[in-house]
Amino acid sequence: MADRLRVCALYPELMSIYADRGNLLLLERRCGWRGIAFELTRVGHGDALDPDVHDLFYMGGGQDRDQRLVAEDLVAHKREALHAAAARGAVILAVCGGFQLLGDHYELGAERIGGVGLVDAHTVRAAGGTQTRLVGNVAIEVALPGLDGPRVLAGFENHGGRTHLGPDARPLGRVLSGHGNTGASGFEGVLAGTVVGTYLHGPLLPKNAWFADWLVQSALSLDAPLAPLDDRLEDAAHASALRAAGVPTPRTD
Ligand code: GLN
Repeated sequence: MADRLRVCALYPELMSIYADRGNLLLLERRCGWRGIAFELTRVGHGDALDPDVHDLFYMGGGQDRDQRLVAEDLVAHKREALHAAAARGAVILAVCGGFQLLGDHYELGAERIGGVGLVDAHTVRAAGGTQTRLVGNVAIEVALPGLDGPRVLAGFENHGGRTHLGPDARPLGRVLSGHGNTGASGFEGVLAGTVVGTYLHGPLLPKNAWFADWLVQSALSLDAPLAPLDDRLEDAAHASALRAAGVPTPRTD
Protein backbone atom coordinates (compact mmCIF):
# COMPACT_ATOMS: atom_id res chain seq x y z
CA MET A 1 0.00 0.00 0.00
CA ALA A 2 1.42 3.37 -1.03
CA ASP A 3 2.13 5.51 1.98
CA ARG A 4 1.90 8.95 0.44
CA LEU A 5 -0.14 10.94 -2.04
CA ARG A 6 1.67 13.72 -3.85
CA VAL A 7 -0.76 16.36 -5.04
CA CYS A 8 0.01 19.29 -7.30
CA ALA A 9 -2.39 22.24 -7.13
CA LEU A 10 -2.18 24.09 -10.42
CA TYR A 11 -2.66 27.86 -10.23
CA PRO A 12 -4.15 27.82 -6.73
CA GLU A 13 -4.24 31.63 -6.68
CA LEU A 14 -5.98 32.12 -10.01
CA MET A 15 -8.06 28.97 -10.39
CA SER A 16 -9.76 28.46 -7.08
CA ILE A 17 -13.32 29.71 -6.87
CA TYR A 18 -16.40 28.06 -5.41
CA ALA A 19 -14.64 26.34 -2.55
CA ASP A 20 -12.10 24.54 -4.69
CA ARG A 21 -9.70 24.59 -1.75
CA GLY A 22 -12.12 22.27 0.04
CA ASN A 23 -11.29 19.59 -2.50
CA LEU A 24 -7.63 19.66 -1.54
CA LEU A 25 -8.44 19.76 2.15
CA LEU A 26 -10.69 16.75 1.84
CA LEU A 27 -7.99 14.76 0.06
CA GLU A 28 -5.54 15.70 2.79
CA ARG A 29 -7.88 14.66 5.59
CA ARG A 30 -8.93 11.35 4.07
CA CYS A 31 -5.31 10.45 3.44
CA GLY A 32 -4.36 11.49 6.97
CA TRP A 33 -7.12 9.41 8.56
CA ARG A 34 -5.70 6.37 6.78
CA GLY A 35 -2.06 7.01 7.59
CA ILE A 36 -1.26 8.05 4.02
CA ALA A 37 1.09 11.04 4.00
CA PHE A 38 -0.12 13.99 1.95
CA GLU A 39 2.25 16.27 0.09
CA LEU A 40 0.91 19.39 -1.56
CA THR A 41 2.89 21.38 -4.10
CA ARG A 42 1.51 24.62 -5.48
CA VAL A 43 2.51 25.35 -9.04
CA GLY A 44 1.51 28.75 -10.36
CA HIS A 45 2.02 31.11 -13.25
CA GLY A 46 5.63 30.99 -14.47
CA ASP A 47 6.58 27.96 -12.35
CA ALA A 48 8.06 24.85 -13.91
CA LEU A 49 5.99 21.67 -13.77
CA ASP A 50 7.68 18.31 -13.24
CA PRO A 51 5.50 15.57 -14.74
CA ASP A 52 7.04 12.79 -12.68
CA VAL A 53 6.78 13.83 -9.07
CA HIS A 54 3.02 14.14 -8.50
CA ASP A 55 0.32 11.47 -8.32
CA LEU A 56 -2.62 13.82 -8.73
CA PHE A 57 -2.85 17.22 -10.42
CA TYR A 58 -5.71 19.51 -9.47
CA MET A 59 -6.97 22.63 -11.23
CA GLY A 60 -10.07 24.44 -10.04
CA GLY A 61 -12.49 26.93 -11.51
CA GLY A 62 -11.76 30.43 -12.62
CA GLN A 63 -13.16 33.63 -13.99
CA ASP A 64 -12.72 34.20 -17.72
CA ARG A 65 -10.07 36.87 -17.11
CA ASP A 66 -8.00 34.58 -14.91
CA GLN A 67 -8.42 31.74 -17.36
CA ARG A 68 -6.81 33.93 -20.04
CA LEU A 69 -3.71 34.39 -17.91
CA VAL A 70 -3.59 30.75 -16.92
CA ALA A 71 -4.19 29.41 -20.42
CA GLU A 72 -1.26 31.31 -21.86
CA ASP A 73 1.12 29.90 -19.28
CA LEU A 74 -0.45 26.45 -19.30
CA VAL A 75 -0.13 26.00 -23.04
CA ALA A 76 3.34 27.54 -23.28
CA HIS A 77 4.97 25.97 -20.22
CA LYS A 78 2.95 23.09 -18.78
CA ARG A 79 1.22 21.39 -21.65
CA GLU A 80 3.91 18.82 -22.34
CA ALA A 81 4.37 17.98 -18.67
CA LEU A 82 0.64 17.41 -18.27
CA HIS A 83 0.53 15.12 -21.29
CA ALA A 84 3.51 13.19 -19.92
CA ALA A 85 1.89 12.93 -16.48
CA ALA A 86 -1.38 11.66 -17.97
CA ALA A 87 0.53 9.17 -20.11
CA ARG A 88 2.14 7.63 -17.02
CA GLY A 89 -1.26 7.35 -15.30
CA ALA A 90 -1.22 10.32 -12.95
CA VAL A 91 -4.71 11.60 -12.16
CA ILE A 92 -5.59 15.03 -13.51
CA LEU A 93 -8.75 16.47 -12.00
CA ALA A 94 -9.96 19.75 -13.44
CA VAL A 95 -13.09 21.56 -12.33
CA CYS A 96 -15.13 24.06 -14.35
CA GLY A 97 -12.70 26.68 -15.70
CA GLY A 98 -9.96 24.07 -15.32
CA PHE A 99 -12.08 21.53 -17.18
CA GLN A 100 -12.56 24.00 -20.03
CA LEU A 101 -8.78 24.36 -20.37
CA LEU A 102 -8.29 20.59 -20.70
CA GLY A 103 -9.84 20.77 -24.14
CA ASP A 104 -8.63 22.28 -27.37
CA HIS A 105 -9.86 25.82 -26.86
CA TYR A 106 -12.35 28.13 -25.18
CA GLU A 107 -14.09 30.63 -27.46
CA LEU A 108 -15.32 33.93 -26.09
CA GLY A 109 -16.90 35.72 -29.01
CA ALA A 110 -14.14 36.47 -31.48
CA GLU A 111 -11.45 35.55 -28.98
CA ARG A 112 -10.05 32.05 -28.70
CA ILE A 113 -8.14 30.87 -25.63
CA GLY A 114 -6.01 27.80 -26.24
CA GLY A 115 -6.31 24.72 -24.05
CA VAL A 116 -3.88 21.87 -23.44
CA GLY A 117 -5.69 19.36 -25.67
CA LEU A 118 -5.70 16.53 -23.15
CA VAL A 119 -9.26 15.71 -24.15
CA ASP A 120 -11.22 15.98 -27.39
CA ALA A 121 -13.43 18.91 -26.42
CA HIS A 122 -13.88 22.61 -26.92
CA THR A 123 -15.88 25.24 -25.09
CA VAL A 124 -17.87 28.17 -26.42
CA ARG A 125 -19.16 30.94 -24.18
CA ALA A 126 -22.81 31.63 -24.83
CA ALA A 127 -23.64 35.16 -25.92
CA GLY A 128 -25.94 37.14 -23.65
CA GLY A 129 -24.00 37.67 -20.43
CA THR A 130 -25.19 36.47 -17.05
CA GLN A 131 -28.65 35.43 -18.25
CA THR A 132 -27.23 32.60 -20.26
CA ARG A 133 -25.05 31.13 -17.52
CA LEU A 134 -25.85 27.57 -16.54
CA VAL A 135 -26.27 27.78 -12.80
CA GLY A 136 -27.62 25.47 -10.12
CA ASN A 137 -27.40 22.21 -8.30
CA VAL A 138 -26.57 19.22 -10.42
CA ALA A 139 -26.45 15.45 -10.12
CA ILE A 140 -24.88 13.06 -12.59
CA GLU A 141 -24.70 9.30 -12.88
CA VAL A 142 -21.21 7.96 -13.49
CA ALA A 143 -19.81 4.54 -14.32
CA LEU A 144 -16.17 4.43 -13.33
CA PRO A 145 -13.59 1.73 -13.92
CA GLY A 146 -13.15 -0.53 -10.91
CA LEU A 147 -16.53 0.29 -9.33
CA ASP A 148 -19.16 -2.40 -9.37
CA GLY A 149 -22.04 -0.26 -10.58
CA PRO A 150 -23.17 3.24 -11.42
CA ARG A 151 -22.81 5.92 -8.75
CA VAL A 152 -24.05 9.46 -8.41
CA LEU A 153 -22.05 12.67 -8.09
CA ALA A 154 -23.70 15.78 -6.70
CA GLY A 155 -22.50 19.34 -7.05
CA PHE A 156 -23.18 22.87 -8.14
CA GLU A 157 -22.45 24.43 -11.51
CA ASN A 158 -22.04 28.00 -12.70
CA HIS A 159 -20.61 28.45 -16.15
CA GLY A 160 -21.13 30.59 -19.21
CA GLY A 161 -19.16 28.19 -21.39
CA ARG A 162 -20.73 25.24 -23.17
CA THR A 163 -18.36 22.33 -23.54
CA HIS A 164 -18.78 20.18 -26.62
CA LEU A 165 -17.17 16.76 -26.61
CA GLY A 166 -15.61 15.50 -29.82
CA PRO A 167 -15.95 11.96 -31.15
CA ASP A 168 -12.90 10.77 -29.20
CA ALA A 169 -14.16 11.97 -25.83
CA ARG A 170 -16.38 10.20 -23.38
CA PRO A 171 -18.37 12.11 -20.78
CA LEU A 172 -17.75 11.64 -17.08
CA GLY A 173 -21.45 11.12 -16.55
CA ARG A 174 -25.04 11.48 -17.61
CA VAL A 175 -27.04 14.39 -16.25
CA LEU A 176 -29.80 13.38 -13.83
CA SER A 177 -30.57 16.90 -12.78
CA GLY A 178 -29.07 20.25 -13.78
CA HIS A 179 -27.44 21.42 -17.02
CA GLY A 180 -24.12 19.64 -17.57
CA ASN A 181 -21.70 20.40 -20.39
CA THR A 182 -24.03 22.30 -22.71
CA GLY A 183 -27.46 22.36 -21.09
CA ALA A 184 -28.71 20.15 -23.91
CA SER A 185 -26.40 17.19 -24.54
CA GLY A 186 -27.28 15.29 -21.37
CA PHE A 187 -23.56 14.80 -20.78
CA GLU A 188 -21.46 16.09 -17.94
CA GLY A 189 -17.70 16.36 -17.77
CA VAL A 190 -15.15 14.23 -19.50
CA LEU A 191 -13.22 11.08 -18.61
CA ALA A 192 -10.14 10.04 -20.56
CA GLY A 193 -8.18 7.40 -18.70
CA THR A 194 -7.04 9.16 -15.55
CA VAL A 195 -7.97 12.62 -16.81
CA VAL A 196 -11.21 13.89 -15.31
CA GLY A 197 -12.96 17.14 -16.11
CA THR A 198 -16.23 18.27 -14.57
CA TYR A 199 -18.33 21.37 -14.00
CA LEU A 200 -19.22 20.21 -10.49
CA HIS A 201 -18.14 22.71 -7.85
CA GLY A 202 -19.36 23.38 -4.50
CA PRO A 203 -16.90 21.80 -3.66
CA LEU A 204 -16.95 18.49 -5.49
CA LEU A 205 -15.08 16.19 -3.15
CA PRO A 206 -16.65 17.01 0.24
CA LYS A 207 -20.03 16.36 -1.37
CA ASN A 208 -18.79 13.10 -2.88
CA ALA A 209 -16.21 11.61 -0.55
CA TRP A 210 -16.49 8.23 -2.26
CA PHE A 211 -15.27 9.89 -5.47
CA ALA A 212 -12.27 11.35 -3.65
CA ASP A 213 -11.36 7.82 -2.59
CA TRP A 214 -11.69 6.59 -6.15
CA LEU A 215 -9.34 9.35 -7.28
CA VAL A 216 -6.79 8.51 -4.58
CA GLN A 217 -6.99 4.82 -5.42
CA SER A 218 -6.47 5.61 -9.10
CA ALA A 219 -3.66 8.10 -8.44
CA LEU A 220 -1.79 5.54 -6.34
CA SER A 221 -2.62 2.68 -8.76
CA LEU A 222 -4.00 0.59 -5.92
CA ASP A 223 -5.72 -2.66 -6.83
CA ALA A 224 -7.93 -2.75 -3.77
CA PRO A 225 -10.23 0.02 -2.56
CA LEU A 226 -8.98 2.19 0.30
CA ALA A 227 -9.84 1.15 3.84
CA PRO A 228 -13.35 2.35 4.71
CA LEU A 229 -13.81 5.31 7.05
CA ASP A 230 -16.69 6.34 9.24
CA ASP A 231 -18.47 8.34 6.55
CA ARG A 232 -21.80 9.05 8.23
CA LEU A 233 -21.28 12.80 7.98
CA GLU A 234 -19.96 12.58 4.42
CA ASP A 235 -22.86 10.36 3.37
CA ALA A 236 -25.31 12.81 4.89
CA ALA A 237 -23.64 15.68 2.99
CA HIS A 238 -23.88 13.66 -0.20
CA ALA A 239 -27.56 12.86 0.34
CA SER A 240 -28.28 16.48 1.14
CA ALA A 241 -26.52 17.66 -2.04
CA LEU A 242 -28.56 15.15 -4.03
CA ARG A 243 -31.77 16.36 -2.46
CA ALA A 244 -30.77 19.95 -3.28
CA ALA A 245 -30.41 18.82 -6.89
CA GLY A 246 -33.90 17.33 -6.76
CA VAL A 247 -32.83 13.71 -7.02
CA PRO A 248 -35.57 12.03 -5.03
CA THR A 249 -34.09 8.72 -3.97
CA PRO A 250 -30.59 9.26 -2.68
CA ARG A 251 -28.51 6.15 -2.83
CA THR A 252 -26.62 5.12 0.21
CA ASP A 253 -23.29 5.91 -1.49
N1 GLN B 1 -15.20 31.25 -16.68
C1 GLN B 1 -15.82 30.00 -17.01
C2 GLN B 1 -17.27 30.15 -17.44
O1 GLN B 1 -17.94 31.04 -17.01
C3 GLN B 1 -15.68 29.03 -15.86
C4 GLN B 1 -16.40 29.48 -14.64
C5 GLN B 1 -16.11 28.68 -13.43
O2 GLN B 1 -15.03 28.11 -13.26
N2 GLN B 1 -17.08 28.68 -12.52
O3 GLN B 1 -17.74 29.35 -18.23
